[in-house]
Amino acid sequence: MAKCDVCGRPATTQLTVRDGSQTRRITLCDQHHAEAVSEGAWRAPAG
Ligand SMILES: [Zn+2]
Repeated sequence: MAKCDVCGRPATTQLTVRDGSQTRRITLCDQHHAEAVSEGAWRAPAG
């Protein structure tokens, strides 16, 4: 199972982010996914 990229706990969510011309896939636990979405820290697609 994948680990959360932030805290290392078991991840429950996968997020695809664009970094310039590259696409990165990050895995996050529930908590950090919620934070990432609310803060837009990972440049999640808007709307
Ligand atoms: Zn986490």
